[in-house]
Amino acid sequence: MSPSDDKLARYREKRDPRRTREPMGGANRRGRDDERPIFVIQQHDASTLHYDFRLEVDGVLRSWAVPKGPSTDPRVKRLAIPTEDHPLAYADFEGVIPEGSYGAGTVLIWDRGHYRNLEEGADASSVAEQLAEGHATIWLEGQKLQGGYALIHTRLEQGKDWLLVKIDDDAADARRNPTSTEPASVVTGRTLAQVAAEEGTDDD
Ligand code: MN
Repeated sequence: MSPSDDKLARYREKRDPRRTREPMGGANRRGRDDERPIFVIQQHDASTLHYDFRLEVDGVLRSWAVPKGPSTDPRVKRLAIPTEDHPLAYADFEGVIPEGSYGAGTVLIWDRGHYRNLEEGADASSVAEQLAEGHATIWLEGQKLQGGYALIHTRLEQGKDWLLVKIDDDAADARRNPTSTEPASVVTGRTLAQVAAEEGTDDD
C-alpha cells in the first residue's frame, strides 16, 4: 500500500470494478520516463455535460468538475467544483461508464499534457500547499491549453466552490473558444458522439 491509496478510498467507494472499465489502480509513477507532473481535462457527458480538470499532485489526480469548461479569456471565471481524487491512470481513460454506475456517460480526453508550478525559487510553495491555502497558480503545456491558470477557492456558497481563471499572459486569447471549436479527443481524434457510438454498445 502506498500513502496515496488512502486518498483514493472515496474514488473506490463510488465504483464497482465489475461494472465499469475505469481504472482502479493506485498511484504508480514507476515506468514513467518523464517526472514532470501531468494534467488532463476530460469532457464528461454525465447527467449534465461538464469538463473534469485534473492535476497530478502527490501521486493522485486532484479533480474539479468545471461545468462550462476552461476559458482562454482572462476576464472569464469558470466555476470549478472539487470532486474526489482520481488515480493517475485515469488520465488515460476514454470510454463509456455504464448506466447505473457512478458518473454514467461518455468520457473523452479533451486535453492533456504536463504542467508546472508557477511559483519558483527557494520560497516557492508546492502546488499541494497552494491548494491547501486556496490559491494555486500553474502553467499548462497542453495540446489545446497553454500558459498560466489560477485555481482560486471562493468562500462563497458554503465554501465548496473554486474558480478556474486564465492568467493574462501570451497564451491568453479572448477570441478563442476551444471548448466549442476544438471538441475532439487529443488522444484518438474522436468526438463525444463517436466515443459513445463505438464503445457504448458492447455491454456484458
Ligand atoms: Mn465528471
